[in-house]
Amino acid sequence: MTVPGRTPADPEAPAGSGPAADRRAAAGPAGSAGPTAARTAGDDLAERVAARIRDVPDFPLPGVQFKDLTPLLADGPLLAEVANAIAARHRGGGFDVVAGVEARGFLIAAAVAVTSGVGVVPVRKAGKLPWRTVTASYELEYGEATIEVHADGFAEHRRVLLVDDVLATGGTLAAAADLVSLAGGELVGGSVVVELTALGGRSRVAGLDLHAVLTV
Ligand code: AMP
Repeated sequence: MTVPGRTPADPEAPAGSGPAADRRAAAGPAGSAGPTAARTAGDDLAERVAARIRDVPDFPLPGVQFKDLTPLLADGPLLAEVANAIAARHRGGGFDVVAGVEARGFLIAAAVAVTSGVGVVPVRKAGKLPWRTVTASYELEYGEATIEVHADGFAEHRRVLLVDDVLATGGTLAAAADLVSLAGGELVGGSVVVELTALGGRSRVAGLDLHAVLTV
């Protein structure tokens, strides 16, 4: 599935009818920025993660409730706990590399990789990687988004844990999962820090052992 590079999927994408519109509908009315409420009552880590995520209404588009993870990323002990929790959740399945999705996913993926003693492979927007790539495209509001990974990214370490910051409509994670297979990797699991359940993204990666630290 190779197409010319287009704007990658992200809330930074233009407004229209499609995933962003779904996202806006799920976000509900915009309020002032504040902590994300955890749906996972009784899960202490999820609640502390929720307290470190800032809901930013109308960013980058009117109606989008942006999950700003920068307070969590700046909290060293909590970031380490999140990375350890993700690593522990997938340790049984056994992974030997972590693939992180541009750009915030890189930060989480690298933390998980370091705590697991494995390396990290970046899944990037089209045109950013210097070597031979495999490419996957998926639907955005206007046209398609394209992401890439190095064709030999999983040549040495094949059992892949896929990590991103937020699961929204699932298009990004589904395309990244395709890339892992196209590049010869074996996808053994996936984790996101936050899953926006109202958007149903999990259904796009139905075969994946997908874990979310926090579901809202
Ligand atoms: P999607 O493909 O719709 O699941 O979107 C997931 C990608 O877009 C992830 O890489 C996220 O970083 C980003 N994203 C989507 N929606 C949001 C949101 N509400 N807040 C923060 N990031 C988001």
